[in-house]
Amino acid sequence: MNKFDLAIIGGGPVGLFATQFAQLHNLNTITFEALNRFGGQVEWLFPNKEIKDIPSYESLSGKDLIKKLKTPLTNTLQPNYRVETIKKEDGYFFINDEYQAKTILITTGLGAFHPKTLPIKVTKTEEKFINYFMTDPTNYKNQKVAVLGGGDTALDWALQLAPMVNSLTLIHRRPQFRGLESSLNQLKCLSNVKISTPYLPKGLQIKDNLLELTLNKIGSNEQSKQSFDNIFVAYGFKSDNRILRNWGLELSGRGIQVDRTMATNIPGIYAIGDSVEYEGRVPMIALGFGEAQIAITNIIAKLFPDKKITLHSTSI
Ligand SMILES: Cc1cc2nc3c(=O)[nH]c(=O)nc-3n(C[C@H](O)[C@H](O)[C@H](O)COP(=O)(O)OP(=O)(O)OC[C@H]3O[C@@H](n4cnc5c(N)ncnc54)[C@H](O)[C@@H]3O)c2cc1C
Repeated sequence: MNKFDLAIIGGGPVGLFATQFAQLHNLNTITFEALNRFGGQVEWLFPNKEIKDIPSYESLSGKDLIKKLKTPLTNTLQPNYRVETIKKEDGYFFINDEYQAKTILITTGLGAFHPKTLPIKVTKTEEKFINYFMTDPTNYKNQKVAVLGGGDTALDWALQLAPMVNSLTLIHRRPQFRGLESSLNQLKCLSNVKISTPYLPKGLQIKDNLLELTLNKIGSNEQSKQSFDNIFVAYGFKSDNRILRNWGLELSGRGIQVDRTMATNIPGIYAIGDSVEYEGRVPMIALGFGEAQIAITNIIAKLFPDKKITLHSTSI
């Protein structure tokens, strides 16, 4: 059985940075990611968004951030691997009865997440026109598309698609949007963008190789039909963190309870990033990076009590 100093569970931005920081301090680590690509919410929900709050970068796209985090990693990365069970025996944690690690760092974020789907029965053929994740906007060049939803994800996707597509209709069930007002104002200035509110999709069918949506106007009997090459559904995501209770972790609200060293109630298990909750915490990437440094430094001190930890070459 493979043995490691540290097993990192979750390969989002925070898990990736924790891997890099642990590698820098010579820890033998393995990082598990349930999905087939690393990067967590950044990779799956907003790869093309320009992120403006990562220190020392004026702006960088989600996919560039994940690439930069992954590039220096030489420690073991295990994609497509969902951690289900953790047991402790003889000073080691057993992960899915397959891997052994002296300590564990949980970076599972919001847990396994799935998109909220259209509340309409959809056939396999119709499914091909419906997108729940944003990939490369250039794939939709010159198309007629619709984005459904009223939050930041819907507005971000619309802003990414608009420069590529022929026309874009933003459909929301309320006249007001929950997303950033500045994003909405940007969209309103674009000549190929139409905003349709308050409309709710009630049915769909394929007609002339396009997806025809039937839209009901909320509060009236008015119905309209519109056809698209592709539609993007941004109704949010359902996340499932139930597994944390099975691992015996104490929760605080929806997240794991940690102390100031990022230790959980189980000795040897630490948690950081969006998986934890404490007063004043905000779900931001850079904060998770700082938590990674706290957790890894404390893990090294516990694993190697005689080792002098050099955080940087010169101290004042
Ligand atoms: C639309 C949107 C825009 C955002 N914009 C910004 C922004 O501009 N700036 C900013 O700082 N933050 C932003 N955020 C927040 C940011 O994305 C999160 O704070 C960040 O992704 C948290 O990182 P994480 O690694 O803790 O968790 P996640 O990114 O949630 O990653 C957790 C990973 O763990 C994996 N996992 C879960 N359970 C298991 C398991 N049992 N076994 C193995 N793997 C598992 C998941 O598959 C996932 O890949 C935004 C969020 C959204 C939704």
